[in-house]
Amino acid sequence: MSAQSCLVCQQGSAILDWKKPESLKPFLNARGGVKNKNQSGLCNTHHAFMKKQVDRARKIALLPYPTS
Ligand SMILES: [Zn+2]
Repeated sequence: MSAQSCLVCQQGSAILDWKKPESLKPFLNARGGVKNKNQSGLCNTHHAFMKKQVDRARKIALLPYPTS
């Protein structure tokens, strides 16, 4: 995955904010799970960062836990 294709590398980590679940929804699949790295289009660093933001949002119920 090249850095250029990572949205967060391009636009900065502020675009992912656990307080703004809308900013994280593009990285969730239909069941509410986090997309895998190929699907998210994020670099390693920012994919991990995004997952942390999703976790925080779930803990305070801004985002649902995935149905499995
Ligand atoms: Zn990145």
